This record gives sequence, structure tokens and C-alpha cells, in this order.
Amino acid sequence: MRILVIEDTIALAKQLRDTLTAAGHAVDVALDGEQGLHLGETEPYDAAILDLGLPRIDGMTVLRRWREAARTMPVLILTARGSWAEKVDGLNAGADDYLAKPFEMAELVARLQALIRRAHGHAKPQIVCGPLRIDVAEQSVFVHATPVRLTALEFELLSVLAHHLGQPVSKTHLTEHLYHQDFDRDSNTLEVIVSRLRRKLGDGLIETLRGQGYRLAPP
Ligand code: CA
Repeated sequence: MRILVIEDTIALAKQLRDTLTAAGHAVDVALDGEQGLHLGETEPYDAAILDLGLPRIDGMTVLRRWREAARTMPVLILTARGSWAEKVDGLNAGADDYLAKPFEMAELVARLQALIRRAHGHAKPQIVCGPLRIDVAEQSVFVHATPVRLTALEFELLSVLAHHLGQPVSKTHLTEHLYHQDFDRDSNTLEVIVSRLRRKLGDGLIETLRGQGYRLAPP
């Protein structure tokens, strides 16, 4: 999944990027509100982490402008510790969840994944498709109850398909949601990842739909 991080404290921004990248996400970082606002308006993100105290344009304004522009991705705001007014204002301005600083990275990752899942209409962290079971929270995959080891990119591609279970997902959509802005895509093209996934999961789960992309459906 592709995540936008807007945080002006460089050490925290870097920690967020590293943690989310290790969790398999593609991450773009903006260090001020102006750049973050622009990225969120123009790039397709699955979720955004938004600090409220930002240079140039504050986080609350960024959030309001996104929502006015009908940008609907889930947004988790980072608030100052103990500031209940910030939390209320943020939720009223269209935030989906909040964390007060300082927070545990594991909690942030769990909350973010729950937001992304719910945005796709899945209340539970497990997605089942025939013999395939994907646990989005644990990042684990089973076929007929046997665990399957996937690389981060393989898991991400499968997750995107699983979030659109039974529906075709275009190659453009996959590309936009799998790779951050500067990713070297050559050796990790979609076709290569899909063929590796088919080898690991077995045939019949991931269909190629001519002109429409790929679809995950029970065989
Ligand atoms: Ca800040």
C-alpha cells in the first residue's frame, strides 16, 4: 500500500518511513504542509499520516483542503500529547484516527492497517479466497492452512488484489499503489511479481483479464 507521511521532525519522519517500509508499504515523505498538501491532492495514496504542527501550511488546513477537494483516503493525525481539543478538531475536520505523541511504532502500523482495511470494506483482518487466507494484520498468507512465504512486494500486490476481492484491478492502479515515487521498477515489474505469486500460491487464484488487469477470485 502507498502511504504519505507528512511530518516536519526529520528524525520522526525517517523513523516512520523506515518502519512503514519494513512493513512492506511504499512511502512518500513530505517535510512541510505545502508539499504534503500537494502530494495528497495529486497522488493516489491508500492512507496518510499527518502531523498537525507543520511549517508553511498547518496539518488541520491540509486535512480540510483534502476533504474539500473530495480526497477520501484514510488520514491518521499525530497530535500533541494531552491536547483533546486537537483530537476533536481533527476528527471533525475529517481525520479517521489519531495518535498522541510519543507513540509506539507498532501501534501506529496496526492502526494504519486497520484504517486501510476498513476503507476497503473489510472489518476483519483476514481475507479468505477459496483455499487462500491472507491475514493483513499479521502479514501472513496460507494456502490450505499451509503458510506461504512472500516477499514484501509480493505481499503488497496480493493485498491490493485481496482488498478488491472478485474485482479486476488495473495495472495502473497496482503500479500507483505499490511503488513510491523514486522506486526502481525494472526488476520488479508487475508481470514478474504476479508470476512468482502464481508459482507460490498455485494456479487459478490470480486471473489475468485482458485489458482490465488482474483479479483475485476463488478458483
Ligand atoms: Ca510538527
